[in-house]
Amino acid sequence: MCRIQSSNLALALVVVSATSMVACRLVETGAGSDSAVRVGGNPSNFTFTEIVPDIYHAQGVGDIVAMSNAGIVINDEDVLIVDSHVSPAAADVLLEDLKTVTNKPVRFVVNTHWHMDHSHGNQVYPSEVEIIGHEASRAAMVTGRSNSGRAYETFIGSVPGRIAAMEGALDTIGDPELRTRLEETIKADRLFFAQTQEVVPTPPNTTLSERMSLFRSGREIRILFFGRGHTEGDVIVHLPDDGVIITGDLLPEGLPYMGDGYVPEWIETLEHVKALDFEWIIPGHGAPYQDREKIDHLQAYLRDVWTQTVSFHGSGTDPEKTAVGIDLTAHAEHFKGAIDPPGGIGLAVLRIFELLDGTAN
Ligand SMILES: [Zn+2]
Repeated sequence: MCRIQSSNLALALVVVSATSMVACRLVETGAGSDSAVRVGGNPSNFTFTEIVPDIYHAQGVGDIVAMSNAGIVINDEDVLIVDSHVSPAAADVLLEDLKTVTNKPVRFVVNTHWHMDHSHGNQVYPSEVEIIGHEASRAAMVTGRSNSGRAYETFIGSVPGRIAAMEGALDTIGDPELRTRLEETIKADRLFFAQTQEVVPTPPNTTLSERMSLFRSGREIRILFFGRGHTEGDVIVHLPDDGVIITGDLLPEGLPYMGDGYVPEWIETLEHVKALDFEWIIPGHGAPYQDREKIDHLQAYLRDVWTQTVSFHGSGTDPEKTAVGIDLTAHAEHFKGAIDPPGGIGLAVLRIFELLDGTAN
């Protein structure tokens, strides 16, 4: 079975191939790592939810694919945006839609990490805007990793092949409604891929190694690095006066992509996050939440993926068989699709094998 999923969309296409049959069905996936809905012509592209006064969660809901959330911090004199989405087009639309919330100038952008869906809108910001990120995130972008490698190939590089597969499947669909939906998805994917081709990776122009603070009219904005996790350079934004943390993919609402992660260190890094004083978590994907137990659940999941994979690795099992063999159903209570994190469990297993073999970059 070949599963073709429009990256992080509400609409996904599943193609089932058999020797004598190709059947397509369209399924609603509901919550995923991202919630941008590209099909449907929503006149607004982002929703802005005020979590506490002047702190917003921005989520893509319209025709533009943002892939990640943004956190918006409105100060007396200016605005700080956390993460810049997957393309200059998406970042431009965010800035346009932001005018419905504030006319203050954006002076700071924080990249929680170097993955393309959090940093590939950087180029729309003028040079006087401080783009802040961990020094490892800058190094990753300078050396081209945001525009290549596992995450990029999984979520962007795969798009042309997916479009071709969907175009091929069109001929097999008789149902006019399904045909229309598939044609809309193909059109949206083409537009999305074209937008990603406009990217000029633009690294942070201000870096930190452990922590820094901005002081804006009485509000402290802390940018903190506690160790490696989802990548080698994840920072979180802590607003101690507002009781909010903005966490990128170190701590999403659901399961994170694990293909570039440092799993044992990630568990430890989350321990530091838990020690912070906050009421609200604005994650890099998914909805804001207050339930701190979700952090424990993610740690338990990471620990289990690690332990089981180490065991298979130790017994000489190859990554493919390991991905099939590990049992994560115990986590289904807390994570929809517990065995299928973004990018697939196979990439998580490959990554852990690299960590164990000393070949991880
Ligand atoms: Zn990421």
